[in-house]
Amino acid sequence: MRKVTQDVAAAHADDVDAKARFPIETLAGLREYGVLSAAVPRELGGAGCNLQELSQLCATLAQSCGSSAMVLAMHYIQLACIARHGMDSEWWRTYLRDLVRRQDLLASMTSEVGTFGDTRSSVCAVRRSDGRFRLDKDATTGSYCAHADAILVTCRRDEDAARSDQLLVLVKREDAKLTQTSTWDTMGMRGTCSPGFKLESAGDEAQILPAPFADISAQTMVPYSHVLWSSLWWGIAAGALNKAANFVRGQARQNPGTTPPAATRLAEASVQLHGIKQNWLAAARDFDALGDSPAAREELLGMGWALRLNELKIACSEASPEIVQRALKIVGILGYKNDSPFALGRPLRDALSGALMISNDRIAAKNASMLLVHKEIA
Ligand SMILES: Cc1cc2nc3c(=O)[nH]c(=O)nc-3n(C[C@H](O)[C@H](O)[C@H](O)COP(=O)(O)OP(=O)(O)OC[C@H]3O[C@@H](n4cnc5c(N)ncnc54)[C@H](O)[C@@H]3O)c2cc1C
Repeated sequence: MRKVTQDVAAAHADDVDAKARFPIETLAGLREYGVLSAAVPRELGGAGCNLQELSQLCATLAQSCGSSAMVLAMHYIQLACIARHGMDSEWWRTYLRDLVRRQDLLASMTSEVGTFGDTRSSVCAVRRSDGRFRLDKDATTGSYCAHADAILVTCRRDEDAARSDQLLVLVKREDAKLTQTSTWDTMGMRGTCSPGFKLESAGDEAQILPAPFADISAQTMVPYSHVLWSSLWWGIAAGALNKAANFVRGQARQNPGTTPPAATRLAEASVQLHGIKQNWLAAARDFDALGDSPAAREELLGMGWALRLNELKIACSEASPEIVQRALKIVGILGYKNDSPFALGRPLRDALSGALMISNDRIAAKNASMLLVHKEIA
């Protein structure tokens, strides 16, 4: 990962950002080293990395290219949903073995016109007949769907089901018709290429994960999303602060024997950076330590974990742009200039997406209602 980060992602990140294009070079590098299957269990040929290891991979890549790290994180989140909820089925085990060999890239479609950013609600429904399914969805945001080998799509269980009675369905690229419905000319995270898409798809019924999405969401998608996103938002901030540290060291070399005034700001920002690292690392460590027993899965359905993960997401998504801004104040005009080696525009714009990517207001509102009944606040 360090090699791909330093040799490939760093070299192409500005072009990816300027053209809002998919980071094809970085993804080719990740495929070459088998990084896309890091989350696949060892018994199926993957590296069997746990959440701590995956978060460190995302944090490393984000230091050079936030968009590439977000693509990798979203891929791992989907992979974890399969690895933790599909293992009883031979179809899914074969799929994962093939994924290791082919280094397939998985995308996600949870957002939908009419659900207003609530991932636990769907309008579209899967329709089954004769061992096959059909699924159409009008998604508001579909990161790198046009570049992925398969997309995991949330939908209602059937046409009579309630909006919250959802399933997760794997749609293969060759079985999907994607019609782009909006553009992706955004402030940041431009390389994730996430416009809206209308999806029309079909496939084998085996491609529907058997577990209710309510369980997949609480036991896997939310923990992996909030930890991996937090780790990459940290990585964006760490990359920016590294630039600021190099800048301050340059100042110090020009005046040997003196400590540049900006070094104090650097020391302050470093406290905040290390604080949020401990936050996501501790959540990943505790999640891994929980194991995968029925009792552990039950615990993940509880309010304690929901609150903790939501708080992690809010804390890291808010701290990341703050730290990048602190780096900008340290570097000054050379950080503000886009063509300087100390440019900080891209990490700042990328970091600002965190608070919107599942709106922090929406998450805080959920926490507010849970805290009314959850008594173990500390
Ligand atoms: C870089 C990036 C990549 C993404 N990739 C994908 C992807 O691959 N697949 C996918 O499905 N989606 C993706 N998304 C979309 C994401 O999952 C969310 O659905 C989307 O960001 C939410 O959009 P919204 O701001 O319109 O939603 P909303 O949650 O509706 O928020 C709109 C505004 O309403 C307010 N608000 C909402 N709820 C409350 C509340 N309860 N209390 C107070 N205020 C509230 C907030 O102020 C918020 O700013 C991506 C988003 C980003 C930024």
